[in-house]
Amino acid sequence: MSLSETEIAQLLKLLRRTEDRELNCEQCLALVAEFAESHLAGKSIPAGLQAIEQHLAVCGECLEEYEALRLTLDGLRGGRDA
Ligand SMILES: [Zn+2]
Repeated sequence: MSLSETEIAQLLKLLRRTEDRELNCEQCLALVAEFAESHLAGKSIPAGLQAIEQHLAVCGECLEEYEALRLTLDGLRGGRDA
């Protein structure tokens, strides 16, 4: 099987577009604290962090990490829910 140059170009474009929109776990975890803080502070989520939300919707591991972080932050803020 071989791809034509056009097909390869299309494929690369597709990959790049996916990369733009989606984070990998490393990128997600690097920003998830900021995301959790914005969330807890009741601020609107900055455009740059909305990709986090998308990633959390599809990645259980990062979601777990986020939940743990949220609980910790919430506890630090006085544990309203405790
Ligand atoms: Zn992840």
